[in-house]
Amino acid sequence: MINCPKCNELIGEEHVMCPICRYEFSIQDIINIKKELSDRENKRFYYRKELREEAAKKRSRYFSAMMLSLFVPALVGLVLTLLTGSIIFVEILASLGLVCEIINVIVAQIKGVFRCPFCDGTLYRYYGSYCPHCGEKI
Ligand SMILES: [Zn+2]
Ligand SMILES: [Zn+2]
Repeated sequence: MINCPKCNELIGEEHVMCPICRYEFSIQDIINIKKELSDRENKRFYYRKELREEAAKKRSRYFSAMMLSLFVPALVGLVLTLLTGSIIFVEILASLGLVCEIINVIVAQIKGVFRCPFCDGTLYRYYGSYCPHCGEKI
């Protein structure tokens, strides 16, 4: 939709003459309308790009936190167990890592890491392709 350059009413983009006030658009009017439409399209494009980048950032933060919470405590536990000969270290630290990962999943769920940034649909394994709900590239 565009605004008529004369009466300012909202009209369809295909018009070269206002169906309401009958004003016939000048060349300059048509140039202005084309520019306005392409600006709008650009803004939409960059907005979608930003949403996509923000979602990718959230996902990578989630995956890093998962690596840290699962592997770092388990590794520290393993080293301590190997050094001391006591299995308790690996048991405690691996459990701690599991608890951290559960918290990580809950936080990711709240922050919408597993949802499409365009339609809010649940994604699960559709990362890096197209949303199965709205068809947007994600
Ligand atoms: Zn008009
Ligand atoms: Zn979607």
